[in-house]
Amino acid sequence: MNTFHSTRGVNDAINGEALSAKQAIRRGLAEDGGLFVTDALGERTVDVAALVGKSYQEIAASVLGALLDDFDEAELAQCIAEAYGSQWSDAAITPLKPLGDDYVLELFNGPTCAFKDVALQILPRFMARTTPAGGDAQEKIMILTATSGDTGKAALAGFADAPGTGITVFYPEGKVSEIQQLQMTTQAGSNVNVCAVRGNFDDAQSAVKELFSDTELAQELAQEHHVVLSSANSINVGRLVPQVVYYFSAYVQLVERGAIALGDGVEFCVPTGNFGDVLAGYYAKLLGLPVKHLIVASDKNNVLFDFLTSGTYNRQRPFYQTISPSMDILVSSNLERMLYYMADKDPRLIQMLMSDLKDWGAFEVPEPLLAKIRTLFGTGWADESQVREAIHDCWERNRYVIDPHTACGYFVMQRMPRDPATPRVLLSTASPYKFPRVVDESLGLDASGSDFDCMDTLAAATGTTAPKSLRDLEHAQPRFDGAIDIDAMRDAVKDAAAKL
Ligand SMILES: *Cc1c(COP(=O)(O)O)cnc(C)c1O
Repeated sequence: MNTFHSTRGVNDAINGEALSAKQAIRRGLAEDGGLFVTDALGERTVDVAALVGKSYQEIAASVLGALLDDFDEAELAQCIAEAYGSQWSDAAITPLKPLGDDYVLELFNGPTCAFKDVALQILPRFMARTTPAGGDAQEKIMILTATSGDTGKAALAGFADAPGTGITVFYPEGKVSEIQQLQMTTQAGSNVNVCAVRGNFDDAQSAVKELFSDTELAQELAQEHHVVLSSANSINVGRLVPQVVYYFSAYVQLVERGAIALGDGVEFCVPTGNFGDVLAGYYAKLLGLPVKHLIVASDKNNVLFDFLTSGTYNRQRPFYQTISPSMDILVSSNLERMLYYMADKDPRLIQMLMSDLKDWGAFEVPEPLLAKIRTLFGTGWADESQVREAIHDCWERNRYVIDPHTACGYFVMQRMPRDPATPRVLLSTASPYKFPRVVDESLGLDASGSDFDCMDTLAAATGTTAPKSLRDLEHAQPRFDGAIDIDAMRDAVKDAAAKL
């Protein structure tokens, strides 16, 4: 069985035993602050040839089975069927489409029109099949999340009415888009709770972190309501692993189109924030997929670009709020997992780097390690005017509309030298209709009305159609209104736990 331990030490175990995948998923984060990894990754590979002609769900069964081997086949099949069913608007789940001489892999056809659906549709199903470590059979998990927009809705949609779970989402009042706010406040489900908070995202995020480390609160929730708090953050193994599947799916789709022969290398260009999406591509490579390069594309918050070009990761820098908000990040948590595997699974090195990051706000990797990382990972970034330019350029050249996050990747990919023998796949992380105002402005269209007017303008000008779930929000009835102070968040969590 694959066992899991912290990136910062091998001894994170329950009663001296290493953790199974289920236990790692239930816990989320290791006790020492590290991320769960398995040293078995790469020992077993997935037979790519056997996946040709298979559906997304069948590919998922093979890939997830290799990584989460304490779920039995029937359990995995149930999780997959529930997570990747009719809530997706494309039967291929993550369809691959030509984009000029390159390809685009659409990851946004899920219920909330963002790539986070791929992971957050299945994570709650995984969690429902884990069992409490402490022996309280009645234990329920409550997910707590502070969101600047995208994650909140995807997590709500995933956890709504999921057995044994509840979810509370906090967002900064007035700081998310009209569409994002409506997406969250109209969420159905008896176990969901959405709270606007008076403050900015950082205030809400810090308060959530405090709630996670509030032992008094934890005790109260456990004793009175049988509730434990957990996170749906992308550091959870259960969120990372489902993303490995679409790299295999993309590769198989290239083979099926005749664009490559089995065994040929492929390059992926990935709009990156917390490093989860692109890390999944590295996992795919370790599982035997012929991934030649992974291009990390950043926005103006280009801390990863600086790291991958210089070897120094320095979080002490200005934070920019940009038109690609889901990539506005200074600490890319999942980078730690990449470093672990690239450093030949050396937890002591990772421990040292992460303690430098904590103490000094920066760390530097040894030169040979950087050189090794650079053989697989390329990088680039786009500022906001370049993002707008990229949206315009992509439409002019390919008659294909992209959102501001995908546009960072498009811009970076266009600037990279192209090897005609290696197909390139751009990962598209959100529907352009989630950001219709910026897209209209970039295309030179009228963007003066509401977000819904912007959607209609975009549809009329490009002959595309707004996803129904987004367009219908205009007349949907919000279930949650009003706002609370930061100080009231603790009570909001207790109230929500009491109702579970
Ligand atoms: C979350 C997100 C990203 C960044 O993905 P990471 O896994 O955090 O690197 C990019 N684009 C969109 C639209 C997102 O929601």
